[in-house]
Amino acid sequence: MIELEKVNKWYGSYHALADVTETIRKGEVVVVCGPSGSGKSTLIRTLNRLEPIQSGRITLDGQDIHARGLDVNAFRSRIGFVFQQFNLFPHLTVLQNCTMAPMQLRGLGRDEAEERAMVLLKRVGLANKASAWPSELSGGQQQRVAIARALAMQPPLMLFDEPTSALDPEMVGEVLLVMRDLTRDGMTMVCVTHEMGFAREVADRVLFMDEGRVLERATPDDFFNRPQHPRAQQFLSDIR
Ligand code: ATP
Ligand code: MG
Repeated sequence: MIELEKVNKWYGSYHALADVTETIRKGEVVVVCGPSGSGKSTLIRTLNRLEPIQSGRITLDGQDIHARGLDVNAFRSRIGFVFQQFNLFPHLTVLQNCTMAPMQLRGLGRDEAEERAMVLLKRVGLANKASAWPSELSGGQQQRVAIARALAMQPPLMLFDEPTSALDPEMVGEVLLVMRDLTRDGMTMVCVTHEMGFAREVADRVLFMDEGRVLERATPDDFFNRPQHPRAQQFLSDIR
């Protein structure tokens, strides 16, 4: 589904992604981990064309996503993106947050958009908050709305960048539960997360990054029990 071929990215003279070559298959759940500054967010942002790359190629279902002339909005509407910060529209209710893009970008009528949004809000456990304002919700609830909002566009691919790391500890579980639920549906997911329990449980594959390189790619079992690269071993012993 996603192919990265020798992707290189620099911020000025800083080499943030170095020769990243990777294939992410449809239905695969990939967890990206690594120390701070290793390039995890940069990688995920290049997948959504939020960051340009300087060389190499990234394709989504065969389409070069960094090609000039790509319809960026149409492309982005096929990818759900959930960040660390919830980024809900503060002046829209929970329901409106979930219906705006489908109405504006997919041309859905209000009734259909609302019906679809309510199904998703139910799914993330927040149907009773449909008419609330984002400011009236806890961080965990806001993040679950952000996930519902992303899903409302029915994207074939979901990207997560540390979706739980800005949350109070007691709210992490509820968001991970929603994400876990998504993996059961066969959603293709790339998640940057420090939640190693989540990685162990739901990842098909773990990518370990350091200094802009993918140093290890392994099943969670191999990665957590038999890490090969010295940096991966160090990383795991630091977080344990
Ligand atoms: P963290 O775990 O702290 O979120 P990360 O693995 O997501 O880290 P990135 O945010 O991808 O790391 O950053 C990788 C490197 O690129 C870092 O050294 C960072 O300082 C640098 N960097 C990131 N964004 C920019 C930018 N806009 N301009 C210049 N350098 C940047
Ligand atoms: Mg990051």
